[in-house]
Amino acid sequence: MNFLSLIEAKRDGQTLDAAQIKEVIAAYTAGKILDYQMAAFLMAVYFRGLTRAETSTLTLAMRDSGDVLRFPEDPRPLVDKHSTGGVGDKVSLPLAPVLACLGFRVPMISGRGLGITGGTLDKLDSIPGFQSLPPTERITEIVQTVGCIICGQTARMVPADKGLYALRDVTATVPSIPLIVASILSKKLAESLHALVLDVKFGVAAFMPTQEKARELAQTLVALGNECGVNTRALLTNMQTPLGRAAGNWLEVKESVLCLDGLGPNDLRELVLACAAHLLVQTGKAKTLDVARRQTEDCLASGKPRKKWDEMLAAQGADLAALSRKLALDHTAPVVVELKATASGFVSRCDARILGEAIRDLGGGRFTKESGINYDVGVDALAKPGEAIQAGAVLARIHAADHAQADAACARLKTAFGISAKNPVAEPLIAEIIELPK
Ligand code: URA
Repeated sequence: MNFLSLIEAKRDGQTLDAAQIKEVIAAYTAGKILDYQMAAFLMAVYFRGLTRAETSTLTLAMRDSGDVLRFPEDPRPLVDKHSTGGVGDKVSLPLAPVLACLGFRVPMISGRGLGITGGTLDKLDSIPGFQSLPPTERITEIVQTVGCIICGQTARMVPADKGLYALRDVTATVPSIPLIVASILSKKLAESLHALVLDVKFGVAAFMPTQEKARELAQTLVALGNECGVNTRALLTNMQTPLGRAAGNWLEVKESVLCLDGLGPNDLRELVLACAAHLLVQTGKAKTLDVARRQTEDCLASGKPRKKWDEMLAAQGADLAALSRKLALDHTAPVVVELKATASGFVSRCDARILGEAIRDLGGGRFTKESGINYDVGVDALAKPGEAIQAGAVLARIHAADHAQADAACARLKTAFGISAKNPVAEPLIAEIIELPK
């Protein structure tokens, strides 16, 4: 293959054929294309884009660059949810066991956090004994027996994305819709799913800043997911403010357990119920969203998902006795300080980006893929927009490694909140549903 001529072709806006794209991915995965040439190719794609057919071929070639999970015939459909990421977004944790109790199999392959957006695996790694990286054979075994797993991608799954994503990250080529679509869907298609619900976030702390950009990404993901044989829908959800009242790895596990106990914040519960209800409809297990929602509420109220969560964690090595002792603690970070309101009124703003940055700087997030993280730090007891607040009441609790870091985060968080005399107009959490046109 003459890769230089393919870079030139893409640079000049030509369309590549399927054989050429497959060859590029095969050669790159085999280490036969140098990073500087691939970087030039990615930049050409960034500026020239890819056609639908090129994106589809790229996605499937990336999926096939490594192991694809294979499951035995089973009446339980294989489903998953993917979120483009945000602050306090812990939906996957309660959702996986809820879905397993609704009669699905859930091979939820998740990632780590980078920058201000948290990663599902980092949250779970704060659970004593939890093993986030089982081998491929064990993933399928746990899905078949327990019904759900939340784990990381093995080195043998979608290796093309691993290399390409790292390269995009350092060459300013991440925000390209065809490249994002291929990256997300190649990993989801490697799970051999029947149905997928996507949570595409927009707002200050989201990958896509505006609803319009999120819609464009969601429409492409939905079209291509369906074209590749997976019933795919997307929810466009608001990420101006964190999801729930807690953000930070361990604090989010605690809040997820509350959700499984039928308690906890409404917005988290709302999104868990919505994702599950859509998957019930997408797979034909419920006729309407209303019926599906009631089914999901009953399932959560039965207490079964909480037991399923323990079963999943135990299958992944967690020490349930140590987990329950840890859950009983108010906090695990050495220092906790309260940020208090200086005026009475309504919370008009709780800026997810500022919160995400403060948590990352407390040690709860990564600056580079190699950084270590502190699982115990973060914020909880967050006051949310629309809530009435009295002067002196708590706006947030900051969990930090020491006093200096707590004070720095407190100063930062003061700028994240707004208090107004009038109750602000509430923004819906789920702004739009994107489906394949009928
Ligand atoms: N998440 C991914 O997995 N890939 C992207 O390109 C962007 C977000």
